Amino acid sequence: MRALCWVAADELAVHEVPDPELRNERDVIVRVRRSATAGGDLPLLAGRHPLLRSGDVLGAEFLGEVVEVGPGVRRHRGGDRVVVGASVACGGCWYCRQGLHSCCDNAHADQASDDPDRGHSDAGCFGRPRAAGGFAGGHAEYVRVPYADVSAFPVPDAVDDDRAVFAADAAPTGWLAAELGAVRPGDVVAVWGAGAVGQLTARAAVLHGAARVLVVDRHEERLRMAERHSGAEPLDYRRTDVAAELRDRSGGRGPDVCVVTVGAPPPERFAADRPDARREAVHACRKGGVVVLLGGTDGFVDAFPLGTVTDRRLTLRGARRPDLRSVPMLLDRMARDELRTEHLATHRLPLAHGPEGYALFRDRADGCVRAVFTP
Ligand SMILES: [Zn+2]
Repeated sequence: MRALCWVAADELAVHEVPDPELRNERDVIVRVRRSATAGGDLPLLAGRHPLLRSGDVLGAEFLGEVVEVGPGVRRHRGGDRVVVGASVACGGCWYCRQGLHSCCDNAHADQASDDPDRGHSDAGCFGRPRAAGGFAGGHAEYVRVPYADVSAFPVPDAVDDDRAVFAADAAPTGWLAAELGAVRPGDVVAVWGAGAVGQLTARAAVLHGAARVLVVDRHEERLRMAERHSGAEPLDYRRTDVAAELRDRSGGRGPDVCVVTVGAPPPERFAADRPDARREAVHACRKGGVVVLLGGTDGFVDAFPLGTVTDRRLTLRGARRPDLRSVPMLLDRMARDELRTEHLATHRLPLAHGPEGYALFRDRADGCVRAVFTP
């Protein structure tokens, strides 16, 4: 089959690779109908991961049709249209039983890669290198989906592929941000980054009853999208004093919940004299508020305002990947038109044009929010 593979830093290619096969009785094989680029792919694309190998198949967010079913699978049969959660989780370990699928103890195929400086490894993830379990991703004609009863979800007929594909990763990540922020009716919520996860965090905050949601970015068209589709108020940080605006629009206190969805810079660029969204969020948040940091921050960072966290009684929470428990609920909301995501797929290309799609996505060229591939 054909798959979009990482070759070297900033170099992708569509290669012929072996078809995936059922390996465990709880596996299914899915024929991919849509796969989307994701923010977490960008550090990989740049080659910023030591365990990435030439030939690794990318793609954390995908949807398709079940074509082969392992004998231990109960919930799926051939022909089912399913969206597959980005986190690979077993469903039975202590963490999965608490609903913390992204912390699964068993799904990671290579627990030996635990880094003593970072603690135990988290769940596996599709389209990531060995450090995330080494599961081949969805930018391919076929994907092996382990623990299919846990991680694959039937898509309601009312939800088309272009909308449902974002129930794999971007929508549950945004929903998780609102949950981690414990957004309550009447809250003021600020979101840094108007990419797909930022927009869906804003929408999740609105659906949680937030009175005002402010989205901070510099890309005009993304801010307009956030305003139109999420009901958020745009703040262009090139033109406005973000700190002052956030104070003004929250009764002088600062937002109740601040969520950072922009990718972290490499550690060497996280310097005290450079502006950074994480630092801005901690400084902006009201006393006793919650700051949620999404996405990867590899390694360690200096110049983080930890004193402000303690002095202002902030709660700091983080997540790199979504859990799976919200996916069916999000699909239902998509079916009821409460959650629309198809506008995020600004570019639709055949998989053969994968390298071009990633270049658009990386450079945010031509207003690209997400590139979506069809086989
Ligand atoms: Zn588990």
